Amino acid sequence: MSATLAEHDEGSAQPLAGRAVFIDKDGTLVENVPYNVDPALLRFTPHAMDGLRLLAQQGYKLIVVTNQPGLAYGRFTRAALRQLHTALAGMMARDGVPLTDFFACPHAPGPAGRVPGCLCRKPAPGLLRQAARVHAIDLQRSWMIGDVLDDVEAGRRAGSRTVLLDVGTETVWRMSPLRTPHHRAANLLEAAQTILANDEPAGDDTLAASSPPDEPAAVKALVPPALLHARATRWAAWGRACFPRSAAPGRPKQGPPLAPDRPELVEGSPYSASGVLS
Ligand SMILES: [Zn+2]
Repeated sequence: MSATLAEHDEGSAQPLAGRAVFIDKDGTLVENVPYNVDPALLRFTPHAMDGLRLLAQQGYKLIVVTNQPGLAYGRFTRAALRQLHTALAGMMARDGVPLTDFFACPHAPGPAGRVPGCLCRKPAPGLLRQAARVHAIDLQRSWMIGDVLDDVEAGRRAGSRTVLLDVGTETVWRMSPLRTPHHRAANLLEAAQTILANDEPAGDDTLAASSPPDEPAAVKALVPPALLHARATRWAAWGRACFPRSAAPGRPKQGPPLAPDRPELVEGSPYSASGVLS
């Protein structure tokens, strides 16, 4: 793993034995309702609880990692997001599925949606790394499930394996090795079965897996090598930092100010129910 991770893993002297499955929220765990924080509108995706119950029974911690730019846009508050998280955990518990934690990036995308304004918004791996520190999780024995390639990239950047839910959410298909899922599945039950059937730590192929056989050559040809190189260079720069509050003095600030007109809505650190961040 990179020096980046070592730099911020002060607690790694203890063995990291835990395994987790990181789950995107909107479109993966629950049906996507834009900017929703109303618990009454929460609907699990098909077979979600059946799949996650299987994973929990096998000892995986289940952790939601979600981009919530609605906080930066002032669409809702941290308190409302906390209520939603509490309701979601309650619904899952009633179905016999324990939710270990819930991490959310509260920041807006960077300019033009291309340059990140923070290091926790997926496809950055910050939320996964934060969760790994809080819950002593071995990222290489863990998995990320999501319905877009930004989820896949976040998972791979964290060193985990990935399952893309092929449910039609992703429409851009900007591919690179880091955006190539290890597996694909039609729903969370199929994803869980895939994980349990491939239950060994990620190897050295984590960052260099070949494209899946069903990826059309025409799609790969759409991404010029120069663009891939530029992306890789930019990511390498981001990887040297972690969260704003732990950034080294003098490091250039990434992206624009976040919701400068309503600073009370957006703090520097991600939302987490663990209490260490919010
Ligand atoms: Zn963020």
